[in-house]
Amino acid sequence: NQGKPMPKVVSKKTAGYYTSGSAIRRMFEEGLKLKSLHGADNVCDLSIGNPQFDPPGVFLEALGKIASEKGPHAYMPNAGYPWVRERVAAHLKERGFFDTITADHIVMTTGAAGALNIVMEAILNPGEEVIILRPFFLEYRFYIEAHGGVIKFADTDSDFGLDVGAVESTIGERTRAIIVNSPNNPTGRVYPADSLEQLSAMLERVSAERGDPVYLISDEPYRDIIFADMPFVSPASKYRNSFMCYSWSKAFCVSGERIGYIAINPEMDVDSLELLAGSLAMCNRYLGFVNAPALMQRVIAEALDASIDVSHYEMRRDRLRVALDDGGYDYAEPEGAFYFFVRTPENEKEFIDRARRHLLLVVPGSDFGRTGYFRISYAAPLETIDLACEKLKAIAAEINPTGQAVLT
Ligand code: PLP
Repeated sequence: NQGKPMPKVVSKKTAGYYTSGSAIRRMFEEGLKLKSLHGADNVCDLSIGNPQFDPPGVFLEALGKIASEKGPHAYMPNAGYPWVRERVAAHLKERGFFDTITADHIVMTTGAAGALNIVMEAILNPGEEVIILRPFFLEYRFYIEAHGGVIKFADTDSDFGLDVGAVESTIGERTRAIIVNSPNNPTGRVYPADSLEQLSAMLERVSAERGDPVYLISDEPYRDIIFADMPFVSPASKYRNSFMCYSWSKAFCVSGERIGYIAINPEMDVDSLELLAGSLAMCNRYLGFVNAPALMQRVIAEALDASIDVSHYEMRRDRLRVALDDGGYDYAEPEGAFYFFVRTPENEKEFIDRARRHLLLVVPGSDFGRTGYFRISYAAPLETIDLACEKLKAIAAEINPTGQAVLT
């Protein structure tokens, strides 16, 4: 092939995403490299949010039982098994999210990523805008742009809480939707009921003024990993023109199994629920997901009420908090999920490089749209957390040997 130009197989967009957009995965791969060079025990990889803990016993029992039974493994309706959708709807009703929800409002999906992509594909006309709140989960960019949407950013407040004024000033004629993620990746913040009510009131008012709803897409895969004293309030329950995107990836530690759902708020202003739900199912089909995994749907239907133990996350969070406080770091208190979003005590890039030299892998804030921070994922073994605590303190001492306030 010498001298011949390489065929340009990959589209410019995808090549751009590949080279610029996969920072967390790149770091994950770098972690593997560092582990092979320095020994796995010496490297603290707190970059990726991929919980490797055991799924709940109820899930494992259901999986064992169903896997050994004769049972259907073939295609089913694109929205999922009707009886599974009925159970999910009943579960959402029992948990108080939606009083009038039925199976007709549920589409089973391949995790929250599948759910978000389906909603985007179903609602976006080319060039329509979707608002995301900074800092944000990196993948939203792909989910929006893959379906012809344009991203608009609204900043959260100084504690990463909702800034309803900032959202309102971002809404324009082409705004179609806003994505809200609580508990939040990367900040761990959980939005309280009152700020969600303010957001909802603003969206209602703006939607009425425009004569066209702004939809709210509630991305809530972390809703069962919550330490706040307040109960979790779903952003989707507070605003009628909303879609709830849920996944068991995080709560059940089954991110590789790809199972979740979309719930359409039953109070949504729709001419035809059949058209909306049918279109979501159609997108499941033509985006190539076809349907959520059959086996997982059947297992999940039996494990819906499994209780989730978050005490091991809480323990990790508390240990890291002590180390961060000892090192003089500045961060917003995480109330859910399994992340800390911490201000870097020096220039972000210098800090990330310094951390890497200490064999500590964390994700730069700029990957989430907020420069000057780093994200810690504490979905990691306890030994890794303990070692990371030592490293965080050593790094702080190195940056500021006198122990004076190190913050910029
Ligand atoms: N939304 C957020 C905020 C996430 O952090 C993730 C995964 O990390 C997802 C969605 C996608 O999760 P799933 O595995 O359910 O597709």
